[in-house]
Amino acid sequence: MSSRLALHNQRIVGCRLCDRLVRYQEKVSQIKRAAYKNQTYWGRPVPGFGRCDARIMIVGLAPGAHGANRTGRIFTGDASGDFLFAALHRAGLASQPQSINRDDGMKLNDCYITSAVRCAPPHNRPTDHECTTCRRYLVEDIRLLSKCRVYLCLGRIAYDAIQAALRVRLGRFSHGAQFQHQDRTILCSYHVSRRNTQTGLLTTEMFDRILVCAKRLANLDESPCFSPNNEPLILPIALQKRPPSDKIRTGPDDR
Ligand code: SF4
Repeated sequence: MSSRLALHNQRIVGCRLCDRLVRYQEKVSQIKRAAYKNQTYWGRPVPGFGRCDARIMIVGLAPGAHGANRTGRIFTGDASGDFLFAALHRAGLASQPQSINRDDGMKLNDCYITSAVRCAPPHNRPTDHECTTCRRYLVEDIRLLSKCRVYLCLGRIAYDAIQAALRVRLGRFSHGAQFQHQDRTILCSYHVSRRNTQTGLLTTEMFDRILVCAKRLANLDESPCFSPNNEPLILPIALQKRPPSDKIRTGPDDR
């Protein structure tokens, strides 16, 4: 990690701008979930994780109250992270399929994971004001990770955050939607939340295809890409590259 990115992440960890979120994450960290009662929760803002020369930036919503807010690493320690890291490993973007804690040896290849909001919000719902307040850190992520060519947005709030951070208006959010802005592509996916994956709104195959698409858009080697049963993955998503522009455009309809 570059020293500038390390300094940026230190600033995030020390941030206390949002009273409601700071109070909530500290309260959760003291009360704890019964299964984790012997653990010390992180209980602070959670910085991004990954390589400073990443070509893919994955943007989530916010730390989970008993996931990243407990472990201190984004998408680590809950069902969303289990789904995401297993998929990243199949796509050759993560060194191991399980993300358990900050000391588990996980390494990311060519990608960086961050979020629209850095503190765990009650019911996973940050207010508009909290999203706006925290946007400064996503803007800085974008500035520091200058080699990024693909912003993979997990869910509508992440997509809105990227649009606001880039100061562009793109099309409407839908799973698989792609928008071009200068030399970057914004790629949308349903969030990897337990609710979406357990109801089948987002399946393993759907998300594997999104990652293959992200790798292709980032001009990364597509060879190791395997389905859950270890079959080579075929890419059925048509690349819908659009001409570079930051003008308002209409994307696929929401479903
Ligand atoms: S949500 Fe962002 S801006 Fe608000 S306190 Fe946490 S790190 Fe700071």
